[in-house]
Amino acid sequence: MVLAQHEVKDSILIVEDEANSRLLLKTYLTSDGYDVRIARNGEEALKSIAANPPSAVILDVVLPKMDGFEVCRKLRDLETTRFMPIILVTALRGDRERTRGIEVGADDFISKPFNRTELLTRIKSLLRIRRLHHDLQLKVQELERVRAKLRKLAVTDGLTGLFNYRAFRGQLHLEVLRSKRFSLPFSVLMIDIDHFKVYNDSFGHPSGDQVLKQFSKLVRKNVREVDTIARYGGEEFVVILPGTDKKSAVIVAEKLRKLVEKEPFPHEKDPPIFRVTISVGVTSFPQDTDSEENIIRLMDQAMYKAKKDGRNRTAILD
Ligand code: GH3
Ligand code: MG
Ligand code: MG
Ligand code: MG
Repeated sequence: MVLAQHEVKDSILIVEDEANSRLLLKTYLTSDGYDVRIARNGEEALKSIAANPPSAVILDVVLPKMDGFEVCRKLRDLETTRFMPIILVTALRGDRERTRGIEVGADDFISKPFNRTELLTRIKSLLRIRRLHHDLQLKVQELERVRAKLRKLAVTDGLTGLFNYRAFRGQLHLEVLRSKRFSLPFSVLMIDIDHFKVYNDSFGHPSGDQVLKQFSKLVRKNVREVDTIARYGGEEFVVILPGTDKKSAVIVAEKLRKLVEKEPFPHEKDPPIFRVTISVGVTSFPQDTDSEENIIRLMDQAMYKAKKDGRNRTAILD
């Protein structure tokens, strides 16, 4: 067996109580370049495998106390050895033993007297399958990671890390169902940054982006874990407040509005003096409407009312 320098030798565990058979197997395997370890009975084998899993196991069926079938079954029950190559050593015409061996999860069989070529080719082919299986597992894991990342990307706003519009619609839909099911109210805040175009025109788009990020963090820090915050688009945000009626939602809205008013955003002292403020529209389910589509329409109307009434304020619809 030719090994590249970076490759580690495959290790084979021989589980065999007869000294002669042990010696012969060891000689064949060592001559083909394998690292060979020995166990004399089932318990010793399980311990050795648990301490340091080999690449493959050659397992005699006839062992004192725990026989090879039982060892094999035990190995197949464990997560770490479920796919470890196991070759059972059976009697020459051991049809019944082989049937039983397959049932307990053996991969292949050899019989005494051992044939060197047969032994080595079986080991080689099982180790090749093991490597393919291992590579496949790595690819599946990688795929899972990519999928998880894509799933997250699909619901995340790139700039702020908040939920995006699509995620908001999903959450809103769930909240409507939950609210109906448990007869609990919920409210939605629609938040729009005031005169944000002026901010961008005065201090540049990158500074505007900073404001959006800082604003997002501020809101995240000051609402409950159960509340959903999403970037609705541009400089518009929405907050879903589960289990919150209109009166309580207005209190939350006012708290956020005052925090933003006081927050030291970039350029707060640069001329022209510009304080970042927000206008907030509050809509409640089922008090204002019991339809999902109407919530979107009404929260928009409430927010525009706040704008019309002078900005930097919270509005509800009568
Ligand atoms: P109003 O008080 O009526 O809301 O005025 P406004 O200027 O905020 O509203 P308008 O809808 O006219 O303009 C919104 C501005 O928000 C336009 C754009 O410059 C800015 N904006 C939208 N998205 C982004 C963004 O991702 N980054 C930055 N920096 N600015 C954005
Ligand atoms: Mg034996
Ligand atoms: Mg806007
Ligand atoms: Mg605006």
